[in-house]
Amino acid sequence: MSAFSYRCSRCGATYAAHEVTYTCPQCSGNLDVLLDYEALKPEAGRLFSDPTAKEPSLWRYLPLLPVGDPGGEGTPLRRAGWTPTYTLPRLAASLGLRHFWLKDESPNPTASFKDRASAVVVARAREIGAKVVITASTGNAGAALAGMAAAVGHKAVILAPKTAPQAKIAQLLIFGAQVVLVDGTYDDAFDLSVAAAEKLGWYCRNTGYNPFTAEGKKTAAYEIYEQVIRPHSVERLNVFIPVGDGNIISGVYKGFWDLHRLGLLETMPRLFGVQAEGSAAIAKAWASDSDTVAPVAASTLADSISVDLPRDGFRALRAVRETDGAYITVPDAAILEAIAEVGKVGIFPEPAAATAFAGLKAALAQGLLAADAPVLVLSTGSGLTDVKAAMEAVPAAPIVPPDLEALSRLLA
Ligand SMILES: *Cc1c(COP(=O)(O)O)cnc(C)c1O
Ligand SMILES: [Zn+2]
Repeated sequence: MSAFSYRCSRCGATYAAHEVTYTCPQCSGNLDVLLDYEALKPEAGRLFSDPTAKEPSLWRYLPLLPVGDPGGEGTPLRRAGWTPTYTLPRLAASLGLRHFWLKDESPNPTASFKDRASAVVVARAREIGAKVVITASTGNAGAALAGMAAAVGHKAVILAPKTAPQAKIAQLLIFGAQVVLVDGTYDDAFDLSVAAAEKLGWYCRNTGYNPFTAEGKKTAAYEIYEQVIRPHSVERLNVFIPVGDGNIISGVYKGFWDLHRLGLLETMPRLFGVQAEGSAAIAKAWASDSDTVAPVAASTLADSISVDLPRDGFRALRAVRETDGAYITVPDAAILEAIAEVGKVGIFPEPAAATAFAGLKAALAQGLLAADAPVLVLSTGSGLTDVKAAMEAVPAAPIVPPDLEALSRLLA
């Protein structure tokens, strides 16, 4: 565990660790966690150059996290993070890219990137003695909180829109969380969960509200550094990230920024945020060079990035501006195509996850990247959690009678 303080991403006010819990008391901006970078330099240097076996999870980075060791050995809490990064030579060749990686987050315990945030929030909840953790979720964040809490016997309450995909609702119920489906949008569930947490004294995990989610998510950047940037001496990686609330891209930015402050990473990678055309509040603000993210009436089949009012929009804009990246929007049809294309090399992304790959295709079509540009796509979750959408990405299978003649005719 590292000593830490907070700095408001919006007004710059700073706070000691014990002074605040969620957002900036002065301006409601999201809080960045600041580590004691000078003091951490020697240990961080050792951590990233250590060739001996380290724990195959995000807990390998415990010295750089603002939480203590949560325990939980022998449970799924200990297996969040340290996901595989593939080079996928056939897919890379079809894209015309010479330096390509795809980081697949589906092997996380509950099948999405959200386990990173929830694991760290559960650790924090145990540390501060919070008996109950509540979150609003479009599905994955709730499943991740429910799963990580179940792993160590902590109580979780999840508010999700009743329209969330069935498999994600099943995950919540199976993990034994108290599940309440809200007859409204994710945004309605968000406001309701904040109010409930305040009234009942529960700890709230909400994305773009609780500062520890981005600290969990930053571990993906540490892994990209360890798996790709450092071993291959990659100069300026172009990282494609799907964006809804903007907390994943803010967290990945934070991880690279930590490494930069620790003297381990000279130039920041370029971050490309990808949104669905029908849920593009942050991309719109970026395109009009505005700091204010105005809400939209979100409509996309990529449920995990369907957000009216992004809760981490300000930092999501900063992540792209300060790394000289870009925001890209893609239509739902391109997201479905991306699911099928990535599927053909053995990876099954959910719609939101495939949005990052669709964004890379759009960037290549727009000439935003050279053929020798190093590229990494962050594929944030498993397609098994939304089979209905996946079936729209591929033609239906033909049905034949159990008869060789009929089969031969069909295959001819
Ligand atoms: C939550 C989520 C996203 C988007 O993350 P934000 O922090 O909301 O921008 C992308 N993909 C998947 C699979 C997710 O669950
Ligand atoms: Zn502030």
